[in-house]
Amino acid sequence: MSVLFEKLALVGVGLIGSSIAQAARQKGLVGQISVATRRAKTLDEARNLGLADSYSQDACEAVADADLVILCTPVGAFEPVMKDIAGALKPGAIVSDAGSVKGHVVKTLAPLIPEGVHFVPGHPMAGTEHSGPGAGFPELFEGRWCILTPEAGTDKKAVECLSAFWEALGSDVELMDATHHDMVVAITSHVPHLVAYNIVGTADDMETVSKSEVIKFSAGGFRDFTRIAASDPVMWRDVFLTNREAVLEMLGRFLEDLSVLQRAVRTSDGDALETLFTRTRAIRRSIIDAGQETAAPDFGRTQPDPVRRDIKDR
Ligand code: NAP
Repeated sequence: MSVLFEKLALVGVGLIGSSIAQAARQKGLVGQISVATRRAKTLDEARNLGLADSYSQDACEAVADADLVILCTPVGAFEPVMKDIAGALKPGAIVSDAGSVKGHVVKTLAPLIPEGVHFVPGHPMAGTEHSGPGAGFPELFEGRWCILTPEAGTDKKAVECLSAFWEALGSDVELMDATHHDMVVAITSHVPHLVAYNIVGTADDMETVSKSEVIKFSAGGFRDFTRIAASDPVMWRDVFLTNREAVLEMLGRFLEDLSVLQRAVRTSDGDALETLFTRTRAIRRSIIDAGQETAAPDFGRTQPDPVRRDIKDR
């Protein structure tokens, strides 16, 4: 593939930053890659994995002369990072991000973008419960959606260039309004994470069933929730702090529907239970048919990258 950007700078080099670096390099999409991260330990991990051409703990140094800058830190760090790098951005550069929330990102970052720099927020809808540079792998974005949420009036060419980059990484790109994005991910991703955190937390707090029994007899259902509930605490803290309204709206609907289910169980309404479970089974089938999941018992999450197994979860 041809080079789309001479220099790519990634600020934050965990699961997402590392995967972007590996995929962009493997596919020859960028001339050079610079990465910046906060801690020396993370920078060393990135260096040992050979993710980039240059490494720095100074984000301004990393973004100097970059044609594409992607913020890959937790959402809560975007604003201070942007304040830091604004003066170091090259005129004509594209600034994007990988954040799981978009309304908050547009609101806080758009005013900080210097004149002549193009801001195209993004969200690759791909991930795992692992974090850090060693968790990244180049196939992460293949067959996944990447949603871009440019504001009206954003330079068309910048949006096209960033779309072409994500498509070359293997993603399908969709443009969406930031507020609508936040509603969509609230129900497809954020509320499910909250439910998983809650169910695992409840099991952990139980007094009648011991902790060792929960672990010993963890059947498929609980085990699958623990995978989601193992996701990065800081990243997910920031998601709920910054997508509060959409999450509360969806959580309200969820709780209403849960009450209906609770009543069906209490009144032994088997028809209501079976009708719902038949409907939900069909939804899983359509997700598999759409290529967003496999029917394999490991949910298609066998990791292709042996490197990650050498690095302990942080
Ligand atoms: P990660 O593996 O935890 O990596 C986070 C990176 O950001 C690390 O390089 C970390 O540096 C740096 N960082 C953390 N706090 C920082 C701070 N306060 N200031 C500056 N740098 C900081 O995270 P990730 O999973 O790649 O997620 C990155 C972004 O992608 C998040 O915004 C998330 O919402 C989004 N996203 C994640 C997923 C997913 O499934 N994980 C999916 C789609 C989008 P140090 O280690 O040096 O502190």
